[in-house]
Amino acid sequence: MVDNSVGSVLQASQSSLNETTANIDLKRVCILTWGCQMNEYDSGRMLDVLALNGYARTGTPQGADMVILNTCHIRNKASEKVFSELGRLRLMKEASGGRMILAVAGCVAQAEGKDILARAPFVDIVLGPQTYHRLPEMVARRARSGDAVIETEFLVEDKFEFLPEQSSPRGVAAFLTVQEGCDKFCSFCVVPYTRGAEQSRPAAAILVEARRLIALGAREITLLGQNVSAWHGDAPNGGSWDLSRLLRALAALPGQVRLRYTTSHPRDMDLALIEAHRDLPMLMPFLHLPVQSGSDRILAAMNRRHTMDDYRRLVDRLREARQDLALSSDFIVGHPEETDEDFEATICLLHSVRFAQAYCFKYSPRPGTPAARLRFQVSEAEKGRRLQMLQGIVREQQARFNSDSVGSTMNVLFTGPGRHSGQILGRSLYFQPVHVTGPASLIGEEKVVLIRNAHPNSLSGTIIQKGFRA
Ligand code: SF4
Repeated sequence: MVDNSVGSVLQASQSSLNETTANIDLKRVCILTWGCQMNEYDSGRMLDVLALNGYARTGTPQGADMVILNTCHIRNKASEKVFSELGRLRLMKEASGGRMILAVAGCVAQAEGKDILARAPFVDIVLGPQTYHRLPEMVARRARSGDAVIETEFLVEDKFEFLPEQSSPRGVAAFLTVQEGCDKFCSFCVVPYTRGAEQSRPAAAILVEARRLIALGAREITLLGQNVSAWHGDAPNGGSWDLSRLLRALAALPGQVRLRYTTSHPRDMDLALIEAHRDLPMLMPFLHLPVQSGSDRILAAMNRRHTMDDYRRLVDRLREARQDLALSSDFIVGHPEETDEDFEATICLLHSVRFAQAYCFKYSPRPGTPAARLRFQVSEAEKGRRLQMLQGIVREQQARFNSDSVGSTMNVLFTGPGRHSGQILGRSLYFQPVHVTGPASLIGEEKVVLIRNAHPNSLSGTIIQKGFRA
């Protein structure tokens, strides 16, 4: 499932991993990461691989020995943005006398392959998401042969078996990729083409990685997958587990970490997973469950394989299982053939389900996807009008959800410094950012906070006592 939630919007962000102070003997690598949490996670794993080969992370491309663009192909004009960034980096490479190694990774690399080298021949390495463990070998090959290297195959070997253990802390709230690829083939989505078929990591490897993240200071782990609710991995002692069983095993680990997973497809939310929400206090009562449209006609055109009623019934069952469950979703407006009536149905769905937050996007054709070939494309002006209307409703619902918290107490896990001096920032159980005045020594701890104010996208309050779990 494409996760639009935390940043599939194309905005380059430098990896949030702790910056390593460059040792004088170490080479410096800068990774610029676009897109979703899975890319953020992948950037961390590339750093782990490179750290074993004498590289330390630097936050800026200036003066770096190697710059990797870890790209996202979800939004429109993704590759144009990559080429524009490459133009800027080309000047830095020239200033370095050609020594700077430029690599393009991620979904744009996978989708565009050698076209990248045709348009930007100064790029040294193009690598797809399944080949990151081979990065040092590619660097060596580039140095030996002088030729650019392209590796975009879907390998038979499992990259996770070859990636080293995490060597640096991943923060209080860490990501853990458990599944990659997707077999759903929604009409608008490039993921099945750029990330390949669904693949689940074995449970034992995930549990080892989770223990390591906890040892490195993680207090919340978000399991990642393009379609994470379809995770089906080898069980530690033979047989196979589904996601609910994996969540139960993770909840039993020492360390009492909060658990989340994203992103899910409604078709894969089965009874066992719903019961996990009922039974596991460590599983946070916030679920990102994309629906994309409220019209059955458009859901069929999107090849979503569920109806609006299926979605509504699923939400009811989830809320029966966990009454305080808050929901987030993704909506695409202006999918080809979407009429005013279809759009009205989406608005109805929004009003009947009520979301704590949602991400709304204008449909944009992605080359090679079935929707891009449909004849009736909605005009840009109409897409813009629908988007504005939908976003207005979402803003209202989010504001209501946040303001309902005022006066209540909430468990907040502090994850980092706040924007203002003396402030720290945390997350509520429902994924709301919460600002309080407090010492940095509380980062990594969970406290009970009295919520005093609601803002459009966050809350603020006062710590009242040590945290506990409901
Ligand atoms: S094909 Fe559909 S389910 Fe799969 S990642 Fe894309 S949007 Fe999600």
